[in-house]
Amino acid sequence: MNTLSSDLGKQAREVKPNQGGRQLPLFVDLAGKECLVVGSGSLAVEKTRLLLDFGALVTVLTSVHPKELSVLQELYSGCSIVSTSFGDYELLGVTLIVSATENLEDDIVVANTAIAAGIPVNVVDNRSLSTFSFPAIVDRGSIQLGIGSNGKSPSLVTKLKDDLELFLPQNLGSIADFISQIRPVVKEILPALEPRRKFWRKFLESKSVDLFFSNKNSIGRTEVFDLVKQIVSEGNIAPLVTIVGAGPGDPELLTVKALRKIQEADVLVYDRLVGVDILKRGRKEAKKIFVGKSKGRHSCGQNEINVTLLEEAKPGRNVVRLKGGDPFIFGRGGEERAFLMSHGVEVEIVPGITAALGCGAVSGVPMTLRDASQAVTFITGHGDGELALNWEALANLNQTLVVYMGIGAAKNISQNLIDNGMSPEVPIAVIANGTTPEQKLVIGKLRSLPLLISESGIAAPAIIVIGEVVEQSRLEVMDLGKKAGDLSNNIFQKRDLPERVGTRRAVL
Ligand code: SAH
Repeated sequence: MNTLSSDLGKQAREVKPNQGGRQLPLFVDLAGKECLVVGSGSLAVEKTRLLLDFGALVTVLTSVHPKELSVLQELYSGCSIVSTSFGDYELLGVTLIVSATENLEDDIVVANTAIAAGIPVNVVDNRSLSTFSFPAIVDRGSIQLGIGSNGKSPSLVTKLKDDLELFLPQNLGSIADFISQIRPVVKEILPALEPRRKFWRKFLESKSVDLFFSNKNSIGRTEVFDLVKQIVSEGNIAPLVTIVGAGPGDPELLTVKALRKIQEADVLVYDRLVGVDILKRGRKEAKKIFVGKSKGRHSCGQNEINVTLLEEAKPGRNVVRLKGGDPFIFGRGGEERAFLMSHGVEVEIVPGITAALGCGAVSGVPMTLRDASQAVTFITGHGDGELALNWEALANLNQTLVVYMGIGAAKNISQNLIDNGMSPEVPIAVIANGTTPEQKLVIGKLRSLPLLISESGIAAPAIIVIGEVVEQSRLEVMDLGKKAGDLSNNIFQKRDLPERVGTRRAVL
């Protein structure tokens, strides 16, 4: 079953019917809109004033002219008092109607006429004749609170209103105005959503901010910069670095989260294994810093990388450290995390598909196989001097070995495994640039691993898979051979995989 629709179905079941005809609170913009008030009593005056306060153009239909209405007419240019009877009044263009005639029969006529004309109507103190009602309002300028009880308890509403009037600061509206004034500049300084959210939360909690804006009607650009800096440096917002696993190469193998983080980044710090196709997913304006090895350029030391990350993150920029595969597998992600955290930087890790899994998937080599391989071990062929591995354990378990960075140490690896009891006939695969258009696969036996590498010219970045699981890939190669009408499995026979342009495979 489709999960989405079943989820929706579940939600639908959980939704409660609108018990008691609850009203939805809405905020309506009445500025410049024509509203009609029918009646002249104190309730009519009260609603007229309210509508006028919110910018409406109010026509009061009444045959008498109480003093309060005349005062309103003098105070507000949008207020007019008309003695036309309701029946003769042209309703075209009226946005809403308030009936306060203090006569039930008249109220019924107004309500029915309004409903027939499709105009929202409130009959004061008569919920059943009304299509909308006025909430009790706590007015703080730009901030408005509306309280309603769906007609259940006006006294409770009044109590709540009184409590809130006491509790809520008078300057709430000016806080909102101030925020709206500085929002564009804050967005410029903190373009990423997450640090900005944190900033606003801290901003509202900060006492110094209260003082800062209480006497101000406007604020200059540099003052906003200072304010943001002050809040950021108060330690309220720790700078953030996200260490993102970019997967084995194919941009489609990025996780949804990794892609989002890349798209949101102000700074992308990347190394050699991260391809341009992935970098292109970042924003055009994002700063891209290469910290890997490249021809004719010295490679960055780990310390240099750490410091770069720290410096970029300190001013509150959204820094994404992109690493090939998964950051926590032979990726030194742990070291970068520890360094940054020791300097007060928050670190988030987004996992990625590690090379072994990506390469296995595209070459038809499973990592485990019932009966033949009950465990997988990832090892590195790279180390300072002699590889410090437990060769005996590696050679004697029913497992798959995946060697990262093993091309240079291939001879050493195969010799050690054979010397410690692994059969020289165990199948092996070497997969280079897995999941990219330059992908290359060679298959052979453990005894001939060094030869296979030197003869095929296969080069880093590559992984070596050692174990019975490799046979599964051979099945796929044979199948492709059959399809191509060519079953000869000669040494280094290369074929283009039909579904992947530029993908080459060789079999030894
Ligand atoms: N963190 C990475 C590994 C970094 S170490 C990960 O989880 O995949 C670098 C080594 O990873 C390379 O030397 C190679 O052994 C392997 N590697 C990375 N990408 C690869 C790819 N697309 N194809 C084959 N091997 C790859």
